[in-house]
Amino acid sequence: MNTNKKFTKSLIEISSCPLCNSKLRKHHSIPQRNLYSEILSNSINVEEKKFLQKVKNVECLKCGLVYKKFWFKKFILSNLFNNSIPLHPKGRDTYLNRFKKKEFTNTVNQLNKNIKKKNINKFNKILRILNSILEGLSGNILLKKKFNLLLNEKELRIDELNKIANQISTKIKKPKRFSRFVGFNDEKLWKFFNSKIKNLKSYAEIGCPSWGLIKIAKKYGKKVFFLKRKEINFWGKKCYYSKNGCIKNLLINKDNIMDYESSIKNISLIGIIEYFDHIENPLLFTETILRKTNNFFYILDDIAKANITIQHFSGWSKKSLSKLAKLTDTKLFIDNKIIKDKKVFLAIFKKN
Ligand SMILES: [Zn+2]
Repeated sequence: MNTNKKFTKSLIEISSCPLCNSKLRKHHSIPQRNLYSEILSNSINVEEKKFLQKVKNVECLKCGLVYKKFWFKKFILSNLFNNSIPLHPKGRDTYLNRFKKKEFTNTVNQLNKNIKKKNINKFNKILRILNSILEGLSGNILLKKKFNLLLNEKELRIDELNKIANQISTKIKKPKRFSRFVGFNDEKLWKFFNSKIKNLKSYAEIGCPSWGLIKIAKKYGKKVFFLKRKEINFWGKKCYYSKNGCIKNLLINKDNIMDYESSIKNISLIGIIEYFDHIENPLLFTETILRKTNNFFYILDDIAKANITIQHFSGWSKKSLSKLAKLTDTKLFIDNKIIKDKKVFLAIFKKN
């Protein structure tokens, strides 16, 4: 099968803006390669570089939404989330205590001079583990930069790498706030919402159950709900960590685990964390949320700082979120201070 046929078999063309329907758009960016692009290009059986160029990010000239020019047919997504990566890696990191000196040192020890040439997939895996630990380490910018530069050299200089790695390993103690080892279950963030939403009595979340604010909301005596959405994504049947599964880990009453389509109403606040950019119909999704609550928030990758990766259907900015607020008759507040040291921002919506 030639490359074009392979693309046609696996991809759907997105011919107009998923938010405002305009067909006017321009090139935005080519996603950087990562674990998902490695797996997806393999499953389509097309060279990774060609694949990333084909799917690419385009920007709507009217509302500013960045979205994928092509998206994946259901069987491709289903295979990705049910077979290739059944466990959500970032969710998993909130359970496993991998932010450890030993984990870092052991991973560095797996590097050897030939690994980059001999087994590029294994090398990339090592790189991802090291990067995730570095991501969790606050400060030490220069040291992290030095280490990264060495990792990116054509020929690995193991002695130099070990030297810097030793220096880094002495700094690995407590993961930084909001990093993938901690998630968003953050006291200050919860207090921030409490100050913004009057009479906050109940709180619900959709998405990955392992990184949100449900535990803290419960601690403060709020009624909590988890909303499950039928979708091909992580947090499916095979995505669990620990024997009981992630939702059960939240210790929510069974009756408070609801279907997203259910008619539950009057929730004081709904939190949607690093999830909205996976949604293929953002307007419909937001309208459904608004039937359940007058207040909700999205925590989203800041596209001015972060690359829009292959697994994200869209990328949001103040401009496109303002358009969404207009279309849904809501007021939008953007905050990029409360969540520190992370390439995300917080968008709070209130019904007019
Ligand atoms: Zn648009």
